[in-house]
Amino acid sequence: MKNYDLIVVGAGVLGTFHSYFALKKGLKVLLVEKDTLPNEATVRNFGQIIPSGMDLNQWHQYGREAMDIYKALQQEAEISVRNNGSTYLASSELEYQLLKELQAIHTQNGYSSQLLTQAECQERLPNVQADYCVGGLLFPQEITVEPRQMIHRLIEHLTQTYALDYRPLTTIKDCEIRNNACEVTDTRGERYTAPKAVICSGRDFKILFPEVFSNSGMRLSKLHMMATTPMPEVQMPGSILTGLSIRHYESFQSCPSFEQLKNLPYHNEELRKYGIHILFKQATDGSIIIGDSHEYVDVDQSETLDFGLDMYINELILDEAKRIMNLPHWKIQNYWAGFYAKHPDQIFEHNIEDKIFITTGIGGKGMTTSAGYAKHHIETIFA
Ligand SMILES: Cc1cc2nc3c(=O)[nH]c(=O)nc-3n(C[C@H](O)[C@H](O)[C@H](O)COP(=O)(O)OP(=O)(O)OC[C@H]3O[C@@H](n4cnc5c(N)ncnc54)[C@H](O)[C@@H]3O)c2cc1C
Repeated sequence: MKNYDLIVVGAGVLGTFHSYFALKKGLKVLLVEKDTLPNEATVRNFGQIIPSGMDLNQWHQYGREAMDIYKALQQEAEISVRNNGSTYLASSELEYQLLKELQAIHTQNGYSSQLLTQAECQERLPNVQADYCVGGLLFPQEITVEPRQMIHRLIEHLTQTYALDYRPLTTIKDCEIRNNACEVTDTRGERYTAPKAVICSGRDFKILFPEVFSNSGMRLSKLHMMATTPMPEVQMPGSILTGLSIRHYESFQSCPSFEQLKNLPYHNEELRKYGIHILFKQATDGSIIIGDSHEYVDVDQSETLDFGLDMYINELILDEAKRIMNLPHWKIQNYWAGFYAKHPDQIFEHNIEDKIFITTGIGGKGMTTSAGYAKHHIETIFA
């Protein structure tokens, strides 16, 4: 039996940043992952780090701290962090009003942004459709990462520089408290022990603690995503969020005009039905990632989310994307689905005897906020 100070189950962004902050405290950490490298939500997303869109009570602050953490790590190793800003595009005067109101709120919190005219949006994003865009809001300090690279490089860096013990292809089937310590067992029968364990198992509700998840109030979301073939000739820096995102991102709920916008019908109600709002991000190879949709089921019904991709949803996404951007072509090289667990209280935390800390359900904001959240959570766990 191997002994550690902390065992972390699940090497997505949440588990890996918990490991990082425990390592920074000088602790001996084991990070276990059922796949060779994490292959779930953490690698299937846009890689948009957008504190400007987060709930203003606490999660915006976690996002700001996360940006500093990503930037500091980028000084240590090439983990794909780029400081290329986030642009929100308004498609109506009311959406533009919301952008102005969000700017005022963030300015008061010392978080700067620039309001953009339609011409300035087109200068920054030459492919934006003139008849879509009324104006925009730019957060120049915000960053992006390459989701298919960042977590893999970070794990490698933590292994080489911080002596992380990373165990791939290791599925944990039991985690219990024995002799006042956490005992964790994998499917090969190997056992590991530590005074504390953190469980960041993402959307896997059936292997560990199924009854806890069943009663958690969490829901599972399936998202449709796609990427074009590379278009290096297109200039599309940073994260791009568009009109319907203004109804989706939580920071806008603090804006005085939000209720008015929320109650307006969609120009196509099918977009509301499938939870579609359009985001763009150009990857470093020049391809453009486009998404997404949101379909929800209870955690006990995860298998009812069809395993296939619904081409009707993909077409709705593409039609809306074409209303916003005028790209040289729309050749799609990949379609995929991503899944995440989401809890109404922003995250699901369930602690067993102050030893096992189950933490998942961070929803659609995990790339933005996990680093900041994990820093505080590790402080609480080891207080
Ligand atoms: C399509 C899509 C787009 C998104 N875009 C963004 C974005 O641009 N910006 C943003 O901030 N957020 C975004 N998100 C959200 C973000 O990706 C998630 O919040 C985040 O990745 C969740 O991380 P996690 O570590 O909780 O879960 P996961 O990434 O699901 O990681 C959990 C890990 O635990 C492992 N595991 C589970 N059970 C076991 C076990 N028993 N033993 C061993 N290992 C186990 C799994 O294999 C997995 O690797 C997006 C999500 C999706 C799906």
